[in-house]
Amino acid sequence: MINQADLGSQYKALKADIDAAVERVLASGQYVGGPEVEGLEREFAALVGVPHAVAVASGTDALRFALMAAGIGKSDDAGGGSGSVRRERGAAAGAVAGGDGVPEVITSPMTFIATTEAISQAGGRPVFVDIDRASFTLDPAKVEKALTPRTQAILPVHLYGQTADMDPILTLASHRGLKVIEDACQAHGALYKGREAGSLGDAAAFSFYPTKNLGACGEGGIATTFEAEIARRIRQLRDHGQSEKYRHVEEGYTARLHALQAAILRVKLRHLKAWNERRRLLASRYHRNLADLAGRTPLLSLPQEMSWGSHVYHLYPVRVRDREPLRRALREKGIDTGIHYPIPLHLQPAYAGMRLGQGSFPEAEAAAREVVTLPLYPELSEPQIDQICEVLRASLAAA
Ligand SMILES: *Cc1c(COP(=O)(O)O)cnc(C)c1O
Repeated sequence: MINQADLGSQYKALKADIDAAVERVLASGQYVGGPEVEGLEREFAALVGVPHAVAVASGTDALRFALMAAGIGKSDDAGGGSGSVRRERGAAAGAVAGGDGVPEVITSPMTFIATTEAISQAGGRPVFVDIDRASFTLDPAKVEKALTPRTQAILPVHLYGQTADMDPILTLASHRGLKVIEDACQAHGALYKGREAGSLGDAAAFSFYPTKNLGACGEGGIATTFEAEIARRIRQLRDHGQSEKYRHVEEGYTARLHALQAAILRVKLRHLKAWNERRRLLASRYHRNLADLAGRTPLLSLPQEMSWGSHVYHLYPVRVRDREPLRRALREKGIDTGIHYPIPLHLQPAYAGMRLGQGSFPEAEAAAREVVTLPLYPELSEPQIDQICEVLRASLAAA
């Protein structure tokens, strides 16, 4: 059986270090926040090359707090300062199409729903812009047309382990006075023109969900930023709006990272670069094995590494015209595949109120119909990749 991840093997390989870290935390008696969390924040900030990293309870929390701390969702005429952070949840989810003063955040419809949940929960409204076909990320050429006087931010998603094309997005944002928040939840260690994902905009969010390139043994996330004031506000939001113990300057959340997760993540962080290199190596083996087939479009197309960056292959999505026979053939040989994602966000029932039908974002819709995620994780072996490719080749030949 080849699954989509093998977290048990990852643990066994690091067992001595992880067990020691867990015992250290249990014996310390400090289970939420504390020195392990501070250590992780220092080490992660150094990895990304930013002065501040703030660990939180999930990637979604990191994204929501990054938006709030960057001032998104606070309508300009609110008058109440930063007092009320709890907005009408869901009210912002696009039930009304503009005109009501709800601040807008531009993002991709081809992502996990956490991206837009964070926008709505921060008090904003997601506004979708289609993706670029080759990179699966926000198409900068289409962003400008979607801007309105209510636009406050652009939220590119570094999907599958590859960054969006950030320079045109950053240029547009700086001309229009917009914030840029990166969803780097799938892109730990990815580079854009030599710069780290998470260091490109005003703030960024990473997830430590177990299957991410850097995953906890539970939930976790971290926000990164160059700005001390944004970091301070995120620290406040994650801990009930406290500016100091029992002085609450606003309502916040219970969203601190557990010390056990931080200690485990610090062990794994030391392996992230090697794991990412291993992912790149396995991806290049897929490429080599399948290049001849992929040349013959429209049978198969492979994920591309764009000229602007270094891909860390959180996922390896191929595109095929008719994916179900292929998935079935692989499943019969014990090979599990995924679909990331089968329904673009604008067509999700949760966003029916936006009234965006089929055809609104053709590239996202085509990707959602055609992508199949093949297994790719550091513990996978070269012969396993070859085996997957053989089954895939036979299935496509039969089609
Ligand atoms: C995983 C993920 C998130 C959310 O992370 P959680 O830790 O699960 O809250 C956000 N955006 C994207 C693109 C993700 O893949």
